[in-house]
Amino acid sequence: MIPFLLLKDITAKYADEIHSAVQRVVDRGWYLQGKENETFERHYADYIGTKYCIGCGNGLDALIWIYRAYIELGIMQRGDEVIVPANTYIASVLAITENGLKAVLVEPDPNTLGLDENKVEEAITPRTKSILLVHLYGRCAFTEKIGELCEKHHLHLVEDNAQAHGCRYKEKRTGSLGEAAGHSFYPGKNLGALGDGGAVTTDDEELADCIRALANYGSSKKYVFKYCGRNSRLDEIQAAVLDVKLRHLDEDNRLRQQVSAFYYDNIKNPLVTLPTRLPDENNVYHLFPILCERRDELQQYLAEKGVQTLIHYPIPPHKQECYYDEWPNSHLPMTERLAKIELSLPISPVLRSEDMERIVELLNVYS
Ligand SMILES: *Cc1c(COP(=O)(O)O)cnc(C)c1O
Repeated sequence: MIPFLLLKDITAKYADEIHSAVQRVVDRGWYLQGKENETFERHYADYIGTKYCIGCGNGLDALIWIYRAYIELGIMQRGDEVIVPANTYIASVLAITENGLKAVLVEPDPNTLGLDENKVEEAITPRTKSILLVHLYGRCAFTEKIGELCEKHHLHLVEDNAQAHGCRYKEKRTGSLGEAAGHSFYPGKNLGALGDGGAVTTDDEELADCIRALANYGSSKKYVFKYCGRNSRLDEIQAAVLDVKLRHLDEDNRLRQQVSAFYYDNIKNPLVTLPTRLPDENNVYHLFPILCERRDELQQYLAEKGVQTLIHYPIPPHKQECYYDEWPNSHLPMTERLAKIELSLPISPVLRSEDMERIVELLNVYS
């Protein structure tokens, strides 16, 4: 059986360093808001290329805090519109609606699976205040035109970098391309903790201070509460583990790129379409999506041959029960089509070469 992802093996690769990091925190006896957070935040901000990094409870919270801070600081108001890809993980959309903002769903480009920049332009109204750009599957979704549209219409560019730690656009890392970015350290992500974790990166000091307070009950001074915040902090053990894994992130991403290069070079089946290939630095391959009209049948076939695959994502946000009132009769044909034809192949820094070969062989004889 070739599993979709073997987290145990990923952790095992750095077991000694991880064990000693955890041991250090356990022995120190200081478990929240301490040295480990300080160190990891400094290292991660430097890595992404921003002035500030604020650790928080998870990736969804990171995105929620960014928009909540815009509202607290009077930069945005409830009811403002935020453009977001329709084909994303639901957390991107929740971060907008949770803040009483209106999510405007925009269809993807079927070749890149990222936001269709022409459709972004059509979706801009006088109420549009922001674009939440999702680097889905590890691919950089930023384009020059999206940057220009943000400038022209004074839109706050926010990035959802939950799937793209280490990805670049030209000389810059994703997570430093807009005003602020939310990152998730969910265990399966390219930079994953051993539990939940998240962070915001930004160059904006006022935004950073506000977010740090919001994630700490709304307080920046002990027992003084400026905002009605929540408790959403990164714990010291996770920060210590993340600091270890950050040191190996580029190496792990290179291994993912090797797997993807093998897939791109060797998958040859007219029934299977691959997204257009990007230069390596622009894709850290959190996932490797392929497209197939007979997706369910292909998934079944691979399963019978011992290869586990997943679908990202089978039901788009606008078709979820929780959003029935928000988008009762919506029809987004490209997004709905992708939900029917997308299949994610196993990819990780620990996928063995004989397993990649087996997967390609099975795909190529499928008819
Ligand atoms: C994982 C993910 C999130 C949410 O992160 P959590 O840490 O699981 O809350 C947000 N957006 C995208 C695109 C994700 O893949």
